[in-house]
Amino acid sequence: MLEEIYAHVLRRNPGEREFHQAVREVLESLPVVVERRPELCDGSLLDRLCEPERQVIFRVPWTDDEGRVHVNRGFRVEFNSALGPYKGGLRFHPTVNLDIVKFLAFEQTFKNALTGMPIGGGKGGSDFDPKGRSDAEVMRFCQSFMTELQRHIGEHTDVPAGDTGVGAREIGYLFGQYRRITNRFEAGVLTGKGVGWGGSHARPEATGYGLVVFTAEMLRVRDLDLDGMRVVVSGSGNVAIHAAEKAAASGATVVACSDSGGYVVDEGGLDLDLLKQVKLTDRARLSAYAEQRGADAEYREGGRVWDVACDVALPCATQNELDEDAARTLIGNGVRAVAEGANMPTTPEAVRALREADVLFAPGKAANAGGVATSALEMQQNASRTLWTFEKTEDRLTEIMKHIHHTCHETAERYGRPGDYVAGANIAGFELVGESMQAQGII
Ligand code: NDP
Repeated sequence: MLEEIYAHVLRRNPGEREFHQAVREVLESLPVVVERRPELCDGSLLDRLCEPERQVIFRVPWTDDEGRVHVNRGFRVEFNSALGPYKGGLRFHPTVNLDIVKFLAFEQTFKNALTGMPIGGGKGGSDFDPKGRSDAEVMRFCQSFMTELQRHIGEHTDVPAGDTGVGAREIGYLFGQYRRITNRFEAGVLTGKGVGWGGSHARPEATGYGLVVFTAEMLRVRDLDLDGMRVVVSGSGNVAIHAAEKAAASGATVVACSDSGGYVVDEGGLDLDLLKQVKLTDRARLSAYAEQRGADAEYREGGRVWDVACDVALPCATQNELDEDAARTLIGNGVRAVAEGANMPTTPEAVRALREADVLFAPGKAANAGGVATSALEMQQNASRTLWTFEKTEDRLTEIMKHIHHTCHETAERYGRPGDYVAGANIAGFELVGESMQAQGII
């Protein structure tokens, strides 16, 4: 039956390779559930689970600083609202297309379920590239994007947030336009807002910090400790930098990170203030970090950050960035754990190689759920018109990440797959979403 459902997904969504990959990964975890809980796995439920509830594609025209008109494409895929309003980020990157948004929205459905918060799954974005654009151009783009998107979202309907290429600046422009068009200060319509106007403390840090909490829990099961370990992260954006910060605070040495141009090795440990200045404030290339850091750091153009030996690898850049060859290099260098900060950064072949080598592996839908969980905490604060302290918010985040780790670990054991966090996350997420869909009838 699972093969039939997958074949149907392939036929209905031709050429959408990332979406196929994400669906296959979940279906591959389900045979044990079909066996033990056939009532939950009827074909109709699985068919509906693999079909988005709604997909919106729209034109986004905007004018650059020279007066030239550009036309981008906007997307919002509202995948599943059985547990709550659609929730998931917006990605602005030239590689964004329907396939990418659909795979991300599918993953998001299970991730959001794992947080234990009442949120459904969605994702959106555009093929707009903010890199090299002025603030005024980014603002005009965001205003045009929101002019259409506002019809589809709302605090009880669909609540977007940031993702690659969408940070505090973009969320500000998007929120401003939403407020202007609707004439409502509806704080709960977007998350990742500034703390002064409805945002939550610890939201920028949440995905990276949560990833490290999950990794530490996973290591603890094997009586290992991050303290004293060598860590490599890929990417140097929001998730990567905050993962590096939390890992360093836990006593690890973060020796390398990357961007789309190359990677930097800094054996003494990355200077995180400098990294934040270069990548988050100046929006410059990583090579500028090495130039400013001096003799301590070495920049390597192109290449692969996974060639740097480490105990823990945290892929935090983009999908399918860690392939089988890279996994074998990591294994050869003695890696103990790989935990996904990005969404689906590890190819299926690489995951298999890591599992066969008995390397601990944490899938993104569990390990990077701290971001969306804190977004849900932001919605909670908005609903009660309060602002929690950083400490209270971080404590809740830590609690949630430990809960997600426990759920995945316990579910994997219950279904006879001890230590398999991929199976644990997929099955636990599926049970939560599937049970709710079943209770709500065929819709
Ligand atoms: P950012 O835009 O802040 O950072 C992305 C980073 O990845 C940049 O350093 C970018 O380099 C680098 N990068 C992008 N493509 C490549 C590539 N092909 N090779 C090497 N480096 C690359 O995004 P985020 O940190 O927010 O998101 C990163 C990942 O984490 C995404 O998969 C996202 O979906 C996922 N995620 C994000 C969450 C969040 O809260 N932000 C929540 C959960 C998951 P450059 O600077 O050169 O562009």
